[in-house]
Amino acid sequence: MSDQQKPGTPAVTSAAVNAASPSDSATLQMLVQLLLAERQEALLEREEKKKAAQARNEQQQKNAEYAEQDTINIQKICSHRKGGKGLKGPKVDYAVSFHTFVNSESAIRCLICKMKWKNTDTPEFLMRRGKKVENHTGIGWKDAYRMVTESSNTATSSEVKLVASPEAAPKVDFEKVGRSAVEI
Ligand SMILES: [Zn+2]
Repeated sequence: MSDQQKPGTPAVTSAAVNAASPSDSATLQMLVQLLLAERQEALLEREEKKKAAQARNEQQQKNAEYAEQDTINIQKICSHRKGGKGLKGPKVDYAVSFHTFVNSESAIRCLICKMKWKNTDTPEFLMRRGKKVENHTGIGWKDAYRMVTESSNTATSSEVKLVASPEAAPKVDFEKVGRSAVEI
């Protein structure tokens, strides 16, 4: 065959040009492959990190939901009363306090379960962020307010005056309040 190169013929064809630097071309190809592999690895790593972060977020979200459900369950069964192993008998004393915020909004809070009642709350619904949500405590503002008047706690704002006669004006029993706060 005439167009078949015989070994030893001087290199002039394209095949021969390629063959002229076989090691250079192979090295280059290897380099490219290495770079590509490295890049792919970096991409995979980034992808994995993203997935891990996403999983973490989802877990945190779940944890937050569980914690919220826990709080709701606690608030459901809380008697909102100070625990009384006292010798004075079953005197009802609620562990609630009245608080007025700077913007003159007020709230009543249970020191045990951290339930907060606002003056827009009814036994059926709580108003939260402009939305009606089910009231899991069944206690509305009126009942909460009554609980405050029956509590020995004072209001936590100087602007607030509770309707109570001077003799009944509650002295803060810090030991009691502190104890119920720790009991949570
Ligand atoms: Zn409570």
